[in-house]
Amino acid sequence: MPRTSRKNSTASTKVLEIPNRQAYRVGAYVRLSAEDKRKEGDSIETQKAIINTFIDEQEGFELLETYIDSGLSGQSFERPGFSRMLADMESGKINCCITKDLSRIGRNAIDTGYYIEKHFPTHDIRFIAINDSYDSANGSSGGIVVSLKNLINETYALDIGRKTSATKQLQIREGAFIGKVPPYGYMKNPENKRKLSRDEETAPIVVQIYDMFMAGSSIREITDELNKQQTLPPLLYFHSKGWASDKDLRRNSCWNRSAVTGILKNQVYCGDMVQGKRGVVNGVKNKDLPKSQWVIVENTHSPLINRDVYFKIQDVLAENILKRTPSRFSTPASENIFLGKLVCGHCGYAMSRRRSYENTYQFACISKHIMGKHVCGSVRISEKKLRTMLLAMLEKQAEVFADKQKIKNHDHPQEKAKSELLDIQAKIGRNQGFLKGLYESLMTGDITADEYKELKTSYESKLEALANQERQLRIEIVKQRTAESVCQRANSTISAFRGIEDLTSAALDILIEQICIFESNQLQVHFKFANETEGGDE
Ligand SMILES: [Zn+2]
Repeated sequence: MPRTSRKNSTASTKVLEIPNRQAYRVGAYVRLSAEDKRKEGDSIETQKAIINTFIDEQEGFELLETYIDSGLSGQSFERPGFSRMLADMESGKINCCITKDLSRIGRNAIDTGYYIEKHFPTHDIRFIAINDSYDSANGSSGGIVVSLKNLINETYALDIGRKTSATKQLQIREGAFIGKVPPYGYMKNPENKRKLSRDEETAPIVVQIYDMFMAGSSIREITDELNKQQTLPPLLYFHSKGWASDKDLRRNSCWNRSAVTGILKNQVYCGDMVQGKRGVVNGVKNKDLPKSQWVIVENTHSPLINRDVYFKIQDVLAENILKRTPSRFSTPASENIFLGKLVCGHCGYAMSRRRSYENTYQFACISKHIMGKHVCGSVRISEKKLRTMLLAMLEKQAEVFADKQKIKNHDHPQEKAKSELLDIQAKIGRNQGFLKGLYESLMTGDITADEYKELKTSYESKLEALANQERQLRIEIVKQRTAESVCQRANSTISAFRGIEDLTSAALDILIEQICIFESNQLQVHFKFANETEGGDE
């Protein structure tokens, strides 16, 4: 709201206007998820009213635009209102974003943290979350608080995810296809995306696999034949259709045992819809569920394979497994906590896990067996060794962060910048006061019109310089805070795992993106918080 200037009856009122320090150009961001719609107090109107009241009560804010996303989850950032707001920030139309609370921005800690702690500050956007008392221009709201809030919001969104999946569960039980990528051999029916229809390109391959197996070929022979034919393996085929992401490409670049066996075991080919194979197990998302929990709805689409043939093959496969694995081990295999995280550093192929003794596991690159080339020598590591090395690296990483933290706290760069900022703000206030007093002096005849003009110009340029300094300092403070909070977040995550005896799959999911294994037990760990550490055999 612009500051009201002193009203005066003189004709020269215009000259007397004290230049306002420019108001923040505000974009109000309002989001209502499908879930919020059922709750009181979070409606679009309520959110707008809270923001408007806030703007009216404060000085120096001008509402330029309200961006609304309705019925969109906070888990995703592909929201039209949000995108429009980012574009307007980019173009400079707005330089301040106000929301009712932090979770309006998003419910995914890493991405929300990115916008609040990185994107907004680097675009010089002031961000205010009213109910969380967060204001990026206020030095006291620390990044760590934001991170914590974000984590809580994320957990909450997962909770909602579980609830909304009730709708999906219903669709699954009705036999509607809810997946993104159809099973190999099928495509989504162009008229009804919830139904499967035969994919003329790949259905013959499925039939060929079943025929060969019925004719007595081994899985290995079928795999070799498909690779010889240069048939695109499922993931590559899906990718060629634009259904799979580039990330999936690295995993399977040709047909392998598990792709062929997967097709031979999939009941979808006798016309039944098989879904709900993965779900939450022990709090970890997207884990394989036992077959007894799968949802199978019969005769939902046209079969590629005769039902009797299919079930006969299941018997043969089960017998083969019995033959292949005589009960050498008295206990079932332990969980592979590194699943999907371990790749060969030389060829990028996923590392395969083998059990050699009762409780001894090895990871090895098996690309040479599959690709028929000797690309990788012997890239292997024992699971025990891998665990020991990883724990040591985490310990080391925690220490490095602790040291960084010490140095930072010692300097107190933020405190220094903050006291400078207060200093400058005081100076601005004083000079504005002088400027006001100047006009009174002119009216009372204490100074001449020429002196007035001269002094006014001098104060104004001083004010401009101070405003500039203030802006620079704010940017500096935000930068320091961003750096510090990134460090703090990683540090607190790591120290949570410091001194633990063993790794769990939940811990790995939080900390580690990927581990590349190189020859002679060398490894490279890509941490989720974008800090890379290399380690090797001591
Ligand atoms: Zn390899």
